[in-house]
Amino acid sequence: MKVAVFNTKSYDREYLDRHNEQAGHQLVYFEAPLNNNTVNLTLGCDGVCVFVNDIIDRETIKGLAENGVKIIALRCAGFNNVDLSAASEYNIRVVRVPAYSPQAVAEHAAALILTLNRKTHKAYNRVRENNFSLERLVGFNLCGKTVGVIGTGKIGVAFCKIMLGFGCTLFASDLYESAELKQLGVVYCSFSEVLNVSNIISLHCPLTPETYHLIDQKAIDQMKDGVMVINTSRGALINTKDAISALKKKKLGYLGIDVYEEEEKLFFNDLSESIIQDDEISRLMTFPNVLITAHQAFFTREALGKIALTTIQNLTDFEEGLFLINEIRPKSV
Ligand code: NAD
Repeated sequence: MKVAVFNTKSYDREYLDRHNEQAGHQLVYFEAPLNNNTVNLTLGCDGVCVFVNDIIDRETIKGLAENGVKIIALRCAGFNNVDLSAASEYNIRVVRVPAYSPQAVAEHAAALILTLNRKTHKAYNRVRENNFSLERLVGFNLCGKTVGVIGTGKIGVAFCKIMLGFGCTLFASDLYESAELKQLGVVYCSFSEVLNVSNIISLHCPLTPETYHLIDQKAIDQMKDGVMVINTSRGALINTKDAISALKKKKLGYLGIDVYEEEEKLFFNDLSESIIQDDEISRLMTFPNVLITAHQAFFTREALGKIALTTIQNLTDFEEGLFLINEIRPKSV
């Protein structure tokens, strides 16, 4: 099967090629993202393979259908960037990698918390310059603190277990409660209650119309003063303008984000010689209590291997007419 693979870096090619050796699909790699401007590159392809920041809207899907594309294989779990209704209308199947390594993302959320709290990033730079002072590096014990988790699916569960290991008290909000977490002592309550009681809040729900800007001024007002907010899920869960305003007022004490609302113009690229046009991320980077990583929470060897393995299997299953275990369909279907 001929597949146009978009938004690829060296590591994507390495892992996909390794797992494609047996399957033998014809993978055509592009560094460019898939969107309405690049859809012509798919002419003659049976499928496309895309990542988190490709924009597969109705217009792009129409172009894919006209070029004969029959399957969209996402190399990620989230699918907020695909118009599923349009795909269904044009008879294009959509598959994803539902769980490649929940631990990878959960562990990165923990890394953001530890770094923001204990300021290891600042200590590293200080010591390299022979500055052995401890001034302004004071942190707090995680043991005994209250951690709020929004969304206790695969990643949320892994994250709760890590934080329980630190001796934290866990509160969670989700549409569905995890019996396993409840048995471990995690308390389920409303979204507002989680905001009220938590010293640290970590977001692990998907981006949907209901969760868009979930963390806005109104939500922040319900949080404790000096709260730490961590987002390794999707950027648009947080209203960036409201977060900046809360940081300026010192209501938000710490912000750790691996995702950003407008990340598709920035993340995964070396822009070190460019002039950044996004004033909001530039403002965020000026705060000493903000830590930004560029969507790397998933980025472990284990996760890359699992993403490649599942993606190739999804394509092979489609080619062989088998049941697509990882297919996603619009709610109405
Ligand atoms: P999942 O589907 O297993 O769990 C999501 C949970 O969120 C579910 O339990 C769901 O019921 C819950 N939920 C939905 N709407 C909610 C709401 N309004 N309030 C509270 N809970 C709600 O997904 P997952 O594998 O745990 O992944 C979670 C998200 O993490 C993905 O949607 C994706 O956006 C993000 N993610 C980020 C990275 C990264 O590298 N930063 C990697 C993988 C996934």
